[in-house]
Amino acid sequence: MALDDLIARYVAGGGRVAAANARGLSAPPALHTVVLTCMDARIDVSALFGLRAGEVHVLRNAGGVVTDDVVRSVTISQRKLRTREVLIVQHTGCGLATFTDDEFSEELARETGIRPPWRTNAFADPALSVRRGIAQLRRDPFLLPDTRIRGYVLNLRTFALQEIVVDGGPAAAPAAEPPRRRGYRRRR
Ligand SMILES: [Zn+2]
Repeated sequence: MALDDLIARYVAGGGRVAAANARGLSAPPALHTVVLTCMDARIDVSALFGLRAGEVHVLRNAGGVVTDDVVRSVTISQRKLRTREVLIVQHTGCGLATFTDDEFSEELARETGIRPPWRTNAFADPALSVRRGIAQLRRDPFLLPDTRIRGYVLNLRTFALQEIVVDGGPAAAPAAEPPRRRGYRRRR
């Protein structure tokens, strides 16, 4: 069983390696950044961005989409653990592009008699989905106004990253943003 394998790997040394990697680290991520990406098992976030333990918060879900729970986590990450930047990475060949929200709901309803209370956030085009995610985070009332957000689509064949630019620039501030608090992000 895979679960038993995982525990065996922990016992065989995984636990010790993880403890060594976390030694001396504090909870706030050193790079003050949240990375939101898909749960796709082929995406090795640490390898992609050369991450070490303690550097970022990694949020993963089906698609790497902005959901209520992502907003919850980013808000806590910002308010309690001082992150200020969000990197969204969705990808080509995503499972969420293989069905529509209605199809999936129908399928579940047929099988269980119950329609799920949540939406799948399925998308046909990951670039549009990233754009939607950026827009959603920008207008969220709980995120800090100086939050920097960048979004990318990862090509899972070539591993090329394509930046998704929203209205004028990747780091463009939302129209309603109050004057930038200088030096605010320098608390690292
Ligand atoms: Zn995916």
